[in-house]
Amino acid sequence: MTSSVPSEFQGKHVTVAGLGVSGVPAAKVLHARGAVVTVVNDGDDARAREQAAELEALGITVRLGDGATLPEGTELIVTAPGWQPGKPLFRAAEQAGVPVWGDVELAWRLRGPDAAPWLAVTGTNGKTTTVQMLASILTAAGLRTAAVGNIGVSLLDAVLGEERYDVLAVELSSYQLHWAPSLRAHSAVVLNLAPDHLDWHGSMEAYARDKGRVYEGNKVACVYNAADRATEDLVREADVEEGCRAVGFTLGTPGPSQLGVVEGILVDRAFVENRQKNAQELAEVSDVNPPAPHNIANALAAAALARAFGVPATAVRDGLRAFRPDAHRIAHVADIDGVAYVDDSKATNTHAAEASLAAYEPIVWIAGGLAKGAAFDELVARSAKRLRGAVLIGADRALIREALARHAPEVPVVDLDRTDTGAMLQAVTEAKRLAQPGDTVLLAPACASMDMFTNYNQRGDAFAAAVRELGA
Ligand code: ADP
Repeated sequence: MTSSVPSEFQGKHVTVAGLGVSGVPAAKVLHARGAVVTVVNDGDDARAREQAAELEALGITVRLGDGATLPEGTELIVTAPGWQPGKPLFRAAEQAGVPVWGDVELAWRLRGPDAAPWLAVTGTNGKTTTVQMLASILTAAGLRTAAVGNIGVSLLDAVLGEERYDVLAVELSSYQLHWAPSLRAHSAVVLNLAPDHLDWHGSMEAYARDKGRVYEGNKVACVYNAADRATEDLVREADVEEGCRAVGFTLGTPGPSQLGVVEGILVDRAFVENRQKNAQELAEVSDVNPPAPHNIANALAAAALARAFGVPATAVRDGLRAFRPDAHRIAHVADIDGVAYVDDSKATNTHAAEASLAAYEPIVWIAGGLAKGAAFDELVARSAKRLRGAVLIGADRALIREALARHAPEVPVVDLDRTDTGAMLQAVTEAKRLAQPGDTVLLAPACASMDMFTNYNQRGDAFAAAVRELGA
C-alpha cells in the first residue's frame, strides 16, 4: 500500500472502532498517512491481543475491552461495518459532532484521482452471485476488474493496491451502506428487499433506506427489480446525476428501459438504439449456471450493470457461460435412483429459501436451524404445493413444523431432534425415503447454521458427504 501521498489525515486524531478484518487494515492505512490512531475494541480475547500487539508495534494505541468510550480529541471515527448505530460510542460521537465512516467510506475517500468507477450490488439475497457474474462479464469484455467488497479482494486493497483496474464490481451490505454517506457509484442495483438484519437497523424502513443509499449520486443507471416494488421506490427516492436512468430487470418480457426474458433468451431493451422498437439478444437462459429463476434474475441484474458500463452483448454471453457459482449455492451434488440432491446451504433466510424452493418440484425439503426471529408462514404457504415431504433439523425446527401444520397439513414431516454429527446423515436418509424418482431433495434451511455447525459451509459439506455415503 502506498504511504507517501500527501494526506488529509496528517496529525488527525482518528478512532478506529473494532479490530478484525476491516479494523486492522484501516488502522494501518490511517497510521501510514500520518493520523494519530486509537483503536477501540469491545473484546479482549487472545485473538484481539495478538492483533493489538501487531498494531502497537507500529505505534498505534489500542484499547481492549472498551468499545463504548469516545477517546478524547477524536476528530473522526472509522468503524467496522457491523457495529450498530445505536452503540454508546456513536451517540457520544454525534453529541461531539464527530463524523463516522465505515470501511467502504474510507476506501471511497482514499481512492486516487484516476480511480476505477464502481458498479455496486446490494440486496437481501444474491449479492455475491451477481457480483461474481458481473466480474466475469466485465472480464470477458477485456476489462481489468475484480469482484470486491464482502468477497475476495477487500475494498481497501482494491483501491490502494498496485493492481490497476478499469472498473470494480462491488458487493455492499446494508451495514456498509449505512456507514458510507459519500459513496457515488457509476451504476448500482438493489436486487431485492426482504426483512433481514432488522435487529441491527431497527426497522424495515431503516433497512430499506440504507440499501437505497447505493443509488445516491449514480451516474448512468439505477437498476431495480421490476418484480419487487420496494426496489423501484428506492430508485425514485434517490438523488442521482443528471441523465442517470432507471433500468428494470424482469423474468418476463421486458418493456422499454428493461432487461428481461423472451422465449428462453435474455434480452436488453434498455441499452439499445431506439428502445421503443429494438431489443438486443444477450444470452440464452441455458447460459446461466444454474438456470433457476432467481439466478436468471441475478444474471439480468449483472448484465444491466455491465451494459450500463458499455459492455457488448457477446461479453455478457461469454461472461455468463464462464461463471461458476460458489459452493453451497444451489449446487447439484448427485443423482441417486432418479432423485436429484441439491445443496443450497447458503439459503440462511426465508427469502433465499423461497427462491430455491421455487426452482424445483416436487421437493423433499431439508430445513431448520437458527431462525433469527423469522416467521415461516408465508414461505411454507407459498411453497406447500411443491413439497413431497419435509425433514426438519436444528434448534428452531418447531417453528417450521408448526407452519407446515397450518399451511400444508398433508405434507409428511420428519422431525429430527438430534444435533450430533450424524444428524445430517439421518436427515438425508429420511429424505431419500420420502423421495420418488423425479423429485429433488433440497437442503434450503431458511435458517442460520450455528446451532449445529460452524457455518453454512460445514452444513453444506455435511449434506454432500451424507448424499455421497448413501449413493455409494
Ligand atoms: P448474498 O451474497 O446476498 O448472501 P448469494 O449470492 O451468496 O447472496 O446467495 C445466497 C443465497 O440466496 C443463495 O444460496 C440462494 O438461496 C439465494 N439467492 C440467490 N440469489 C437470489 C435472488 N435473486 N433472490 C432470492 N434469493 C436468492
